[in-house]
Amino acid sequence: MITVLTGGTGGAKFVEGLSHVLSPEELTVIVNTADDLEWWGLYVSPDLDSITYALAGLLSRERGWGVQGDTFHCLQTMGQFNQPTWFNIGDRDLALHLVRSRMISHGKTLSEATAEIGASLGVKARVLPMSNSRVETRVMTSIGELTFQEYFVKRWFQDPVTAVRFAGVSDAEAAPGVISSILSADFVVIAPSNPITSIGPILAVPGIMAALQQTRAAIAAVSPIVGGAAVSGPAGILMQAQGLPCSVIGVAQAYSDFLDWMIIDNTDEHHQADLRSAGMKVHSANTIMRTASDRVTLAVDVLKAISYPAGIPQLSTNQLRTEN
Ligand code: GDP
Repeated sequence: MITVLTGGTGGAKFVEGLSHVLSPEELTVIVNTADDLEWWGLYVSPDLDSITYALAGLLSRERGWGVQGDTFHCLQTMGQFNQPTWFNIGDRDLALHLVRSRMISHGKTLSEATAEIGASLGVKARVLPMSNSRVETRVMTSIGELTFQEYFVKRWFQDPVTAVRFAGVSDAEAAPGVISSILSADFVVIAPSNPITSIGPILAVPGIMAALQQTRAAIAAVSPIVGGAAVSGPAGILMQAQGLPCSVIGVAQAYSDFLDWMIIDNTDEHHQADLRSAGMKVHSANTIMRTASDRVTLAVDVLKAISYPAGIPQLSTNQLRTEN
């Protein structure tokens, strides 16, 4: 069994690749929920949604979030009503937020809502929110403290950052299944996600770091930093704001309390010796996932590197081409 810790964009591509080479019962995904927001009165959980859509084969390839081929009529109409429109919600995507918000207002936990929504969309792997308690990433910037979505989506991560905190995390509890899936895993993989604002909140939930340190599973991280820069988004800026270099070395430092393996891009091979001398096993691969084939190839590469015992089925090139 493999347990993955992840955020949205990079993690969703990676988890989708894994889902093609593992059977669903072998895959558990623990997802950041500190980016969640209330939007138009609805509970929106961007990372849970990206992972669920990716596993359901619905994730938009072009945008990397939301539903493939979605329309935005409701968003436009909300603008006519002078409602905020800086956070983009597609029409089909909106249905998921309506359903989840109803479930939560009827007393279901986020875990229960996530499982029911996944089942309705045909997702068979286990998708777990990191916590059912509300945790909110707050980014301290030159214009004041912003929520993560205000910093990232509304203001295009242009404001200089001095600090990041996770409001509510010290009182949060790991969601059901989170700790046990780390302790009982054969391998734990940290997806190529933002180490500060996607993986950071998961690590800050009480009990999760201790589980990572206690588990007998080997733990591997796939670097979201390639050639000294984030593949997308503010990971590099936020790492530097937290005193970490924007490099594979910085990623390894962020996870140094529990990490056994670093999976780095071929372009970062020159860092191998430094990582090894810090006590890590290292594997280099093409970690840029542009196509369905890239996603599966990376998943296979990671599983082979860590000697995951399961048989890895070979998907035909045609099958992968149709999924691009
Ligand atoms: P977010 O919640 O949307 O920020 O989701 P994530 O944290 O999962 O994704 C953002 C991170 O994924 C960024 O740090 C990117 O550098 C990384 N990323 C995105 N696409 C890729 C990719 O194809 N390969 C690798 N190695 N990293 C990626």
